[in-house]
Amino acid sequence: MTESIDTFAALNLPPALLSALAEVGYETPSPIQAACIPHFLAGHDLIGEAQTGTGKTAAFALPLLARLDLATKMPQALVLTPTRELAIQVAEAFQKYAHHMPGFHVLPLYGGQSMVIQLRALSRGAHVIVGTPGRIMDHLERKSLVLDRLQTLVLDEADEMLRMGFIDDVEWILEHTPAEHQTALFSATMPDPIRRIAQRYQKNPQQVKIRAATTTVAAIHQRYWQVRGADKLDALTRMLEVEQDFDAALIFVRTKTATVDIADKLGARGYEAAALNGDMTQGLREQVVERLKNGSLDIVVATDVAARGLDVPRISHVVNYDIPYDTEAYVHRIGRTGRAGRTGNAILFVAPRELRMLKAIEHATRQKIEPMTLPTKSDVADRRVAQFKQQVLDVIKAEKLDFYFEVVRQLEDESEIKPREIAAALAFLAQRERPLQPEGAGWQAETSAPARSEERPRREERPLREFSDERPRAAPREERPAFHEDKPPVRANRDEILSRRRAFSEGNLAKFRIDVGRNQGVTPKDIVGAIANEGGIEGKYIGQIHLFDDYSTVELPADLPADTIQTLKRTRIRQSPLNIRALAAGEVEEKSSYKPRPKWGAERPGDERRPAPGKWSGAKSEHDGSRPPKAPFKPGDKPKRPYAGENKFAPKHGAGKPKKY
Ligand code: ADP
Ligand code: MG
Repeated sequence: MTESIDTFAALNLPPALLSALAEVGYETPSPIQAACIPHFLAGHDLIGEAQTGTGKTAAFALPLLARLDLATKMPQALVLTPTRELAIQVAEAFQKYAHHMPGFHVLPLYGGQSMVIQLRALSRGAHVIVGTPGRIMDHLERKSLVLDRLQTLVLDEADEMLRMGFIDDVEWILEHTPAEHQTALFSATMPDPIRRIAQRYQKNPQQVKIRAATTTVAAIHQRYWQVRGADKLDALTRMLEVEQDFDAALIFVRTKTATVDIADKLGARGYEAAALNGDMTQGLREQVVERLKNGSLDIVVATDVAARGLDVPRISHVVNYDIPYDTEAYVHRIGRTGRAGRTGNAILFVAPRELRMLKAIEHATRQKIEPMTLPTKSDVADRRVAQFKQQVLDVIKAEKLDFYFEVVRQLEDESEIKPREIAAALAFLAQRERPLQPEGAGWQAETSAPARSEERPRREERPLREFSDERPRAAPREERPAFHEDKPPVRANRDEILSRRRAFSEGNLAKFRIDVGRNQGVTPKDIVGAIANEGGIEGKYIGQIHLFDDYSTVELPADLPADTIQTLKRTRIRQSPLNIRALAAGEVEEKSSYKPRPKWGAERPGDERRPAPGKWSGAKSEHDGSRPPKAPFKPGDKPKRPYAGENKFAPKHGAGKPKKY
C-alpha cells in the first residue's frame, strides 16, 4: 500500500487489459504488481518475492499480455509452475485478463493429460504456454514445443518447485531455451538454490521484495478463524450474531465486485449493509459513510482503497473477509476500529494456504492473533434467547400495555388456558422471523447421517447451512456463495464416482497413517496432491482420507512398492514429513476426537473427504518416480531423481517406451 501507483492505467497497460481488469473487479494493483509491472514491461529480468496470495500471477501475466504479438501464433512466453493445478489456474488467469484480446491463445501443458490432446493443441499454436517442468521437458525433447520465438520465461512459485524436487528439471529447461529472453522468477521465499539459479540464468535482475513492515497496533482484540470447509458468509453472519459488543462492522474484501455481492447477501439475511468501493462516486461514498455514522447502516463491505482513512468511531469490528496483501494493509484495515478510545475487534479469515501471511502479520505487528472457533448453533440460540428476554423486559418497562392485558385476559377466560401457556405461544409467534432455535433444512440434511451428536465432526468443520434458510424468500438458493471466489468447488459427476469406486474395489486397499493433520493445516486435497505427485500414484488408487488433529489416514493400495513408500516417508506437506506407514487394523482411530463422516460420495464443498475425482485423478506425474528414464536422453543430459521402479499405480501416460503419435 506504500506504492504511489494507484491504478492499473498508471502502469501503462493497454486498454484491452484495463477493461478486463475492470470487469474482474480489481481496483488497484497490489504492491507486487505495482512494483513488478514497470520492470517487466521494460524487458528487464526480474525477481519478485512476496507472500502467497499477494497477486503474483497478474504481476507477470498482465505485462506479458501487454507485450505479446498476437499476429505470431508461436509461444512467446513460457510459464513454469510446480503443479498441474497451478498451471491450470495460471492459464485461466491469462484467459481472464485477455478477455478483450481476440485470437489470444494460452495452453496449459501438464503431466496426466493425454499427449495426443497436447500435441494437437501445440500444432494449432499458442502465444503463451503454462506448464509443469516434467511435461515441458517432454515436449522440448520431442520438439513438439519449439521456443525459437520465446521472449519471456517465468518461473512461478520457484520455492515450491524446489520443494517438490523439480529444480533440476527447471535448470534443464533453462539450459534448453534460446539464450536471448527475459527471465522472471516469482517466489514466496528465496532459498539458496533458487538464488543460485537466479544468479546463473538472469542478467542484472531487478529485485522486488514486498517486505513486512513492523508496526504496532493499538488496543484491538485480534482473532483469526481458519477457513475450512465452511462457507465464509455463513461464518461471518454467525460471528456477528454472537459478538457481545457488536455495534458496526467494516468488512474487507479484495474486489469491487465482492463488495457489492457480499453487501447484497448480507442485506438478504436481514443486515443493514452497503458496499463501498472505488467505482462509486464521491457523493455516494460519503453517503454510505454518513449512514454508517448515524446508525442507519451497520455493515459496510469495502475494498482497501475505498476505506482508506475511514473514521467512524462506532465501528466495533473489522473483518478481513479476504486476507490483505501485506501486513501494512492489515494494519491499515484494523486501524478502522478501536477509535476514539473504544476497544476494537479484528477478525481475520485465513485459508490454509494463507497461514504464512498470518505468521507474517503476527511477526510484523509483534502480536499474537488468537485462533477462534465458530460459534455453534447453541451459542447462537443462547444469544438470541438472551436478547429476546431483554426485549420483553424492555417492553414491560417502557410500553403502556393496558390494551394487551385485556386481550390476554379475554383469551384466558374464553379458552381456560393458563397465562404461561399463552405467553409461550406469543413467544413462538414473536420469534418466527428470527427463530430462537435456528434450525433449517440444510441442518437436517447435514445430520441425517447415523452419527450420534458427539461423534459428529466439530461444528466449525461442517458446511454452515443451518441458518441459511431463515429468510428463504429474500435469499434465493442460487445465491449460495462459492467456497472460494475464483475456484468454485469441483464436483464429481456420478459416473466418475462410480468408476472410482470400482477402481477401489478392484485393488486391495490398506489404510496408511501419515504424520500430518489438521493442526498442520492440511486438507485432503494437499494429501492427494502430495501422494499423487511425489509417489506417482494415480488418483484413482487413493481412497478415503480422514483428517485428525495431528495425523491423518489415507487408503492406498496394500502392495505399494517399497521404494514408493520410502519416497512418501520423506515427502513433506506444509514442511512436515509424512512418515507414512501402514496401519494395523483398529490402530489409533478410536482415540480420535473427531469421527469422520463415513461417506465421501456426497458432493458438498467442505466435506471432509478427498477432493472430487477429476480434479486430481491421474494427477500429474511430474516426478521421475513415475517415469522410467527415456532413451533420447544422453546420460548426464538431465539430472535424475530416484526412480521408483515398477510402480503399477503410476499414471500410464507418457511412460517409458514412448508411444507413437
Ligand atoms: P500469489 O500468486 O501471489 O499467491 P495470486 O496471483 O494467486 O497470488 O492472487 C491471489 C488472489 O488475489 C486471486 O484470487 C486474484 O484474483 C486476486 N488478485 C490479484 N490481484 C488483485 C488485485 N489487483 N485486486 C484484487 N484482487 C486481486
Ligand atoms: Mg502464485
